[in-house]
Amino acid sequence: MTAPCFVILGAGHAGTAAASAMRAAGFAGRIVMIGDDPHLPYERPPLSKEALRGADGAAPPIYPANFYADRAIELKLGQGATAIDPGAQVVTLTDGERIGFDKLLIATGARARRYPLLDALGEAAHVLRSADDARRLRAELVPGRRLLVVGGGVIGLEVAATASALGLSVEVIERAPRLLARGAPQPLADLLAQAHRDHDVALHCGVDLADASREGGMVRLTCAEGREFVGDLVVYGIGVTLNDELAAAAGLAMDDGILVDAQGRTSHPAIYAAGDIARQEQAFLGGAVRQETWANALHQGAAAARAMVTGEAGAHEVPWYWTDQFGVNYQVAGRIAAEQWITRMGPDGRPRMVFGLSQGVLTGAVGVDAGADMRILRKLIAQGARVDPAVLADPDVALRKMGKEIQSV
Ligand code: FAD
Ligand code: NDP
Repeated sequence: MTAPCFVILGAGHAGTAAASAMRAAGFAGRIVMIGDDPHLPYERPPLSKEALRGADGAAPPIYPANFYADRAIELKLGQGATAIDPGAQVVTLTDGERIGFDKLLIATGARARRYPLLDALGEAAHVLRSADDARRLRAELVPGRRLLVVGGGVIGLEVAATASALGLSVEVIERAPRLLARGAPQPLADLLAQAHRDHDVALHCGVDLADASREGGMVRLTCAEGREFVGDLVVYGIGVTLNDELAAAAGLAMDDGILVDAQGRTSHPAIYAAGDIARQEQAFLGGAVRQETWANALHQGAAAARAMVTGEAGAHEVPWYWTDQFGVNYQVAGRIAAEQWITRMGPDGRPRMVFGLSQGVLTGAVGVDAGADMRILRKLIAQGARVDPAVLADPDVALRKMGKEIQSV
């Protein structure tokens, strides 16, 4: 009898977390992880931060090469899958190889959403999703150059902060009336807007581009109302396109992502999905959601892997993410909308934490260089803690103490 084979499609954060968790859960069969990126799976968050400040734009690997060999995880890198046959339970690779699976995890994530208007600028326009993107961009971030960032989301703001620290002059052009309109609480957008202004990054919100041209070494972006922005290069971050084509062609149930149940299982009983690509019911968020965060990819990838091995569903975590800008760590936990935001100031007279309350219940938080407190806050949010706003605002009340006293609802 041949050993059972689990195939993981996509060698990013969800895929690698799953491979590791499958072995940790006692799966002794064959594990094959397929990734179209040629590099050993690497950390993606540093690509817009440390890697762009480093000498060569390189990000650290998630695990060293021997991690996979030691656990008999077969890595097939630099080649993508081209088809999933759900009936025969076979994945076909670019080189024509066909791999049969007993169970399959789809963790193909997303790619940068393209903006043809800017792509027409050729090598003067950059996106940032992969290690190769970061290397190309790093080489262009020369002090004194003028960078135009299109998209005031997380990519845009992190690149703007990094480039500004490297000595470029930076302008951010955002179509929405405010920064981070899509996935961040208003208080975080306000804090980051202030931080960028403090570092002389020019922010232009409510601006939609109508034209882009290149004249010699110069780039010119023109808005519908005729306003112009001139720079040496452009980076744009306008969201993502899911790598969901194979799943759709395989007939899996989809709705802006692959729909999965509590175990991470898709509409096909032998196929699971996790990470940026998966949409899962999250009671805390009041419906099926897709999250585009590092923490979710790790948690969901590992949980789906354990379910593939043991059949047990994993517990949900309160969603959270971080962003590092101008040497400051900002963290967000819980829901991004709240009825009321309460600010707690730090000893430097600046906001250190902002708490989101809805009907008296703590539902979200933003922390500024407050990693340890954010861990406690995630627990309080998970408990549905009711907290007196005056206590939240009081910097003399330690959150650790609060955690012991609070009644959960
Ligand atoms: P991915 O990391 O996208 O991995 C999917 C992999 O599958 C990719 O390597 C892809 O090439 C591969 N693939 C796709 N199709 C195929 C195919 N047909 N065959 C084979 N392989 C395929 N999140 C945070 O919480 N904090 C941060 O600070 C942060 N910073 C970020 C900075 C940058 C520059 C970027 C791009 C993202 C950042 N994120 C951050 C988001 C986080 O990195 C993602 O949420 C996470 O990478 C999602 O993991 P994933 O495994 O689902 O997908
Ligand atoms: P986001 O969705 O965060 O932001 C994109 C922004 O660009 C939105 O505000 C969007 O506005 C705006 N936009 C869209 N089209 C235009 C346009 N034509 N002109 C100007 N602005 C426009 O995506 P990002 O690209 O910033 O990030 C991509 C991925 O990387 C996400 O998955 C993100 O989670 C991940 N990431 C996460 C980080 C973190 O958590 N720290 C850091 C870096 C990346 P609108 O909503 O109106 O379309």
